[in-house]
Amino acid sequence: MAQELSAVDRLKMFFQVVGLQKENIQLKKRIAELEQDIIHDGLTGLKTRRYLNEELERNLTMIFQADHHLAVEHFGFTKVSVLFFDIDNFKKINDKYGHGTGDDVLKAVARVLKRNVWKRDLAARYGGEEMAMMLLGSGEEDAYKKAEDIRKKIGEIKIPDYPKIKVTVSIGVAQADSASVEQVVKNADVAMYEAKFLGKNRTIRYSELLAKKKRPAKK
Ligand code: GH3
Ligand code: MG
Ligand code: MG
Repeated sequence: MAQELSAVDRLKMFFQVVGLQKENIQLKKRIAELEQDIIHDGLTGLKTRRYLNEELERNLTMIFQADHHLAVEHFGFTKVSVLFFDIDNFKKINDKYGHGTGDDVLKAVARVLKRNVWKRDLAARYGGEEMAMMLLGSGEEDAYKKAEDIRKKIGEIKIPDYPKIKVTVSIGVAQADSASVEQVVKNADVAMYEAKFLGKNRTIRYSELLAKKKRPAKK
């Protein structure tokens, strides 16, 4: 027959269990914190490129695998657009004012993105001075309007102590037309490069590029 525990042993066990429960809660909290660290960029607090790609993949798969009716019913949207941002002449800002000020510019641009991103959408730091946004439920025109609004707000950024710094961005817009994340990001990126080519500080839609390609060359 099992020996009965003494009152002291029972008390010890009770405190051990309480201790383990406390440890368990702390570990869960730490895991949640680490999960947040993994999906956020350390400098800007934006989401990471990897997280953006994963979320794009999830949403594009959902809407392009379901038929239109199902997509509207279950997800509330059938369109997804991507904005691709690249800060203009950023190297010059770094060279002239130092990397610390360059970092301040990156953070200020990120703040504008965060303030203007809707809850179900997502803004990420894509690379050095490149950022991207996923817009759920937005076709190319809506996404363009949003991009122009953000571009103007970025143009109003003031960097403390450096009133001469003018921050502008070039933006590419593309609406996804397949489940391919690579394709929609590439289209937005190509449109962004066209914005650079045309003189920077502007937004170009991928459809504008397509229309240009189709037009016969002038004689
Ligand atoms: P463009 O208008 O054509 O985009 O020119 P640009 O100068 O913005 O582009 P370029 O690719 O020549 O330079 C990007 C610079 O961004 C170079 C790199 O040192 C800087 N950069 C990348 N990541 C960071 C960062 O985290 N902090 C700072 N301060 N600079 C960064
Ligand atoms: Mg760049
Ligand atoms: Mg740049």
